[in-house]
Parts: sequence; C-alpha cells; structure tokens
Amino acid sequence: MTDMHDNEAKEITLVGVVGAGTMGQGIIQVAAAGGMTVLAYDEKPQAAETAKSKIANFLGRAVEKQRMTASEAAAAIKRIIIIQKFEDLAKADLVIEAIIENLEIKKSLFAKLESVVPQHTILASNTSSLSITGIASNCEHPQRVAGFHFFNPVPLMKLVEVIPGLRTESWVLDKLMDVGTRMTRKPVICADTPGFLVNHLGRGYMPEALRVLDEGIAKHNDIDCIMTGAAGFRMGPFSLVDLVGADVASPVMDAIYQQYYHEPAYQPSQILNLRMQGGILGLKTGSGFYEYSKGKKVEPEPVDTPQNRSMSVHIGNGDVEGTKLLTAFIESAGVTIRSDASDDTLTLLPLVGTGLSTAIALNGLDPTRTVAVDTLFGLEGVRTLMVTPATSNEVRAQAHGLLGVDNASVAVINDSPGFVSQRLVAMIVNVACHMAQRGVSSPEDIDTGARLGLNYPKGPFELAEEIGANRILKILEELEAFYGEPRYRPSAWLRRRVDLGLPLDLPDAVL
Ligand code: NAD
Repeated sequence: MTDMHDNEAKEITLVGVVGAGTMGQGIIQVAAAGGMTVLAYDEKPQAAETAKSKIANFLGRAVEKQRMTASEAAAAIKRIIIIQKFEDLAKADLVIEAIIENLEIKKSLFAKLESVVPQHTILASNTSSLSITGIASNCEHPQRVAGFHFFNPVPLMKLVEVIPGLRTESWVLDKLMDVGTRMTRKPVICADTPGFLVNHLGRGYMPEALRVLDEGIAKHNDIDCIMTGAAGFRMGPFSLVDLVGADVASPVMDAIYQQYYHEPAYQPSQILNLRMQGGILGLKTGSGFYEYSKGKKVEPEPVDTPQNRSMSVHIGNGDVEGTKLLTAFIESAGVTIRSDASDDTLTLLPLVGTGLSTAIALNGLDPTRTVAVDTLFGLEGVRTLMVTPATSNEVRAQAHGLLGVDNASVAVINDSPGFVSQRLVAMIVNVACHMAQRGVSSPEDIDTGARLGLNYPKGPFELAEEIGANRILKILEELEAFYGEPRYRPSAWLRRRVDLGLPLDLPDAVL
C-alpha cells in the first residue's frame, strides 16, 4: 500500500487553489462556503486579496438576500487563507489549478506542485480545452491528477465535470465527486475527450442553427423565436451566441471540430468566423446578430399576420400525432376540412422529418397550394409554416392568416427536411448519442450536463423519450437522405435502440 491509498479514507478538508482570477475566485468561494478551508495562491501580487474581497462582497449580498446568515458568511470568509509562498500549499489534501490556459505552463505547474505536496494530494485542473492526460504527462504520480471543470460564473453554475486522465485512479474521482457535492455543485463524470461533456454536447444547437441560417431556410430571429416559443429552450441560439460573443463561440467550434479530426457532425459555419474577424461580436460590441442599445437587445419589428385566411383546408399525409393536432386546431378555427384537395383548397402537411418538396413529389400534390406545418412540439406556442419556391403568395398569406388566427406568432420558413425545431433537436439528441456511444459520459450525466451546463429545458435523452426516439431517427434519416452528408448520419447508439424498441438511455451490455 502506498501512502496515496491511505488518503482514500480521509475526508478532504484543506483545499489549495492556484490562480485567483475569474474562475479561481469562484472556486475559492464555493469551497469555503462548502465548509472547506482554502489556501488561495496567485503569482500576481494582490490577486488573491482582490479575489477574497470580491467574495466578501458577494457573500454580503447573499446575506442581504437571506440566502445565508451573517455568521455563515463570516465563517466562510475566515476559512479563506491567502498564501504568498507556493510551498505553503504543502498541507493541502487537494490542489485545484485555475491558471492561464496553456499546456506547457500547466504541465510545469503540476510538476512544481509535485515537488511541494505529498504523494497522496490530489491535483486537479480546471482547464476547459486541454487534455488532463497531457497536463499530467510530466507528473511522477499521474494517477492522482484529474480534471475538475467548473463553469462561469461558478457560484451560479451548479455543474462541475470530473474528468479522469488515462492514468487517474478511481479513488481520486470518488473524492472529487464528494468535494463537488460539498461545494453544492452537481458533479458529472466524463472522459478525457475534446470539449469534455458540456462543450461537446453544445455541438448540436448552435452549429445546426448556423447551418439553417447559412442555407437561407429561416431568419436568425425566427430561429430564436421557434426554439424558445415552440421547443421551449430558454434562449435562442443567436441570442446565445451574441451573449457569449462570436470571439469565444467561434474558436470553441473550430477547436472541437479539429480535435475530432473533422467529424462532419461538428462542422462549424463560416458565418461566425467572418463576424469574429469583423468585430461584430454581439452584446459586448453593441452589434451582433441583433443590435444592442445601452446593453439591451433591440427586438426586430414583428411581422403582421395577414387577414385573408383560407376557409377550406385539406390535411394531407403526414405524422399521425400531427394530423390529430392540426385537425383539432382547424376545427376550432371554424374552417372546413375537406377530405380531398381541390382548386380552392389549401393543403396542409404535418410533416416530421420530410421536406416539403419531397412530400409534394411523393404524393403528387399541387405545389402552389401545399404548405407544411411543424407540429412536433404541439401548436400551443410559436407555429412554423414551411413553403417552397412554388408556393403562391396568396396561398402563403392564407396559410399564415389561418395559423395566426388567434394572434399566435407564426414563423414562415423555406423548405427544409425537419423544419427548424426538428433539425436542431434531432442534432442535439444525435450528438448526445454519439457521446454515449464513445463513452464520453453516461446518458444520465449527459442529461444533467444539458440542463445545468447548457440551460436546456430537458436533457437530450429526456427530450428523445418525450418526442419518441423513432421520430428523432426518422428526422435524421430524412436529413441524411436529402443532403447525402455524413453530418446527419444517425448514431449507432440511436439506431440500435430504436431497432430493438429499447429505451434510449439503456447502456451497452459489456464494458
Ligand atoms: P484569469 O485570467 O481570469 O485568471 C488566471 C489567474 O491565474 C490570474 O490571476 C493569473 O495571475 C494567475 N496565474 C497565471 N499563471 C499562474 C501561475 N503559473 N501560478 C499562479 N498563478 C498564475 O483566467 P480564468 O478565466 O479564471 O481561467 C482560468 C482557467 O479556467 C483556464 O484554464 C480556463 O481555461 C479555465 N476556465 C475558464 C472559464 C471562463 O469562462 N473564464 C470557464 C471554465 C474554465
């Protein structure tokens, strides 16, 4: 038994944090608030002191808002000990590194840490993009090195990723899970892979939204309205990119695409790179996909709903659930439903996956009088209508007037397999399935990561359960067949479970 294994039984009470910048400050705060004593170190003079006084202000506000008592806040502040000498980290049970994102600098810091701490001390990195195995490569005892990845702003973001390098021993992960929980975080385990869990999972939403925009299928504000108003996401992809900044979002997209050796599913769009070059970064520059005035988004003018609505509708072949929803909606609008299409009838198709042109050709429909409706997320919120280049302006206005009869918002988009919401959600689920298949993380942790790290209303496996994994597979198959691109190929994980009628979150049998 090495003395490293003696540490398995010991609770971590003394935590060192190296680097007291944006992330280090947050980590120091949650560790101290979680009852641990923290040794705060930064090579820059006064940086740790500044962090401590900002934490005191933050906790003071928490007391005012009655989120903690004054004595709890005072005790947490007292547990933060600023150290001037690196060697004073020697007694720490765990050291969390939150310094500059540079592999060589981190590698030498970890080697230097090994020269002052005993063999059982866990060494953790808060890196966002470097491999834990690489950071540990200079270490004499890489088995006690792991990733401990927090999110910004730390006190508000409840998730923490626990990442084993290739040589990390399992007791180290158990300890970090425990420490993360005592810091009131929700720890998830993920493999040492590009983007870890959250940044990898994010390859579904924003990149596919950019692809939809790039192809001229829908305007950015319509995509945002559909994703928030129909699919229930808290923020649309273009509001999100404006908030994060094109200068941050674009390099992350590039890095993950490169690190996965040009995996087509993760291909970024040139749209964002161009904006980054032009300094059209979003909120921080006052101009991005939206314009900002005094830090507030200037909402685009809403489109008026046409008054002339169709009085005779035929519902063509489409999704069974969607047909029921659409029938109930048309009946409640007092509009006649005809069993056949005729010269004065609007044909509506509740499509799942299939593009409108494809459906018109397959069913021999009149292209001038046929419009598709997205029913996947119901018809309660924002509604999406899809038209083709052949749709007459009159029919388009009639369909818009009918779908907006109760003043609901209607987004009219160009033809696309899977509309907007179906495409984006299918890509989110498919990326999650690719991740589960690769062993990046478990379906349960992927769902947690989506909710707490990306603020999605539900995790991808929960979403697929609600929508039906077979419908997600159909959307992807239609996209793949239409574009002929491996970007849309359904994950083996998804296809296998749909083929067998098994729940999508069921793990593989072996390994
Ligand atoms: P930051 O620039 O705000 O802070 C870094 C701090 O580390 C500075 O105070 C600096 O003086 C100190 N430092 C640099 N080299 C040092 C050394 N060798 N020894 C001691 N102190 C040193 O950076 P940050 O945003 O807090 O990022 C820190 C780490 O966290 C990076 O690895 C980053 O990738 C990761 N991260 C950042 C975010 C984020 O949104 N900012 C989110 C998750 C993870």
